[in-house]
Amino acid sequence: MKRETYKGRKIKVVAGRGNGFGRTRVTLNGVELGSWMGDEDKTLRSIRGSIDHADEVGVSSARYGAEWYAPGTYELCDEGHAKEIGGECGHSWCVEQRAKLAPVVETSEAESERLAYDMARLRRIHPSERTEAQREELRVANARLVELCSVPPEGYSTPKAAADLMAFAESHGWRTSAVWTALGYEGEPFLTVQVGHLVGDESREQYRGDRWVYSLTWHSRDCAPGKTRRFGQGTAQTPDKPATHGAPSVKAIRDVIAANPAAVSDAA
Ligand SMILES: [Zn+2]
Repeated sequence: MKRETYKGRKIKVVAGRGNGFGRTRVTLNGVELGSWMGDEDKTLRSIRGSIDHADEVGVSSARYGAEWYAPGTYELCDEGHAKEIGGECGHSWCVEQRAKLAPVVETSEAESERLAYDMARLRRIHPSERTEAQREELRVANARLVELCSVPPEGYSTPKAAADLMAFAESHGWRTSAVWTALGYEGEPFLTVQVGHLVGDESREQYRGDRWVYSLTWHSRDCAPGKTRRFGQGTAQTPDKPATHGAPSVKAIRDVIAANPAAVSDAA
């Protein structure tokens, strides 16, 4: 029988007799490793070699059981596999469990593509045939897409005139939205800004339409990198002219907003 401590591991090798002749029985850190070929010296050499290899691949590799490492140099994962202290278990089962639990990281670009695809699918269903759940799905997807597209593309920012108009509209209780070209859009980016307000119930009867919506575009075409400028006239829908028509100047839009502020209770 031979005992030795190699790199902190306690090895015991016992030569076999009778049927076990030419073999050894190995105990490593108190754990029986079974029968090994060769005499005691040969077995010790191969155990040392395996210990060197275990150190080389590291305990978190899960290539060797805990008994192959010096006590106190590793910890056990929740499943009882040896792993580096503070590290993640490398056992295939644990790796698989972590992969199942890990949140799927989706880029904004991939998300907006998925949403656009979902919305196209839902829009193929006739509005009268959509279920309540499908209507809700469409509404949520659209809201998220608008949110994703409210972030300017890299290198761009909301032009001051657009930001000022939206701030003015919001301060009067109007709703606003700023939607850039879709993420991943490869053409020249542009921004569509809308400011709008529903006519209050008390004055609805005096109008043909029920809302003001002004939609203006700022486009990067023919502009220096990162710059945009007003593009086209924009469109308007107003209570006395509900069909879509050309938008007036930003100054005129501000005058309409100032003359028709939302009641404070509506300004959400
Ligand atoms: Zn594990």
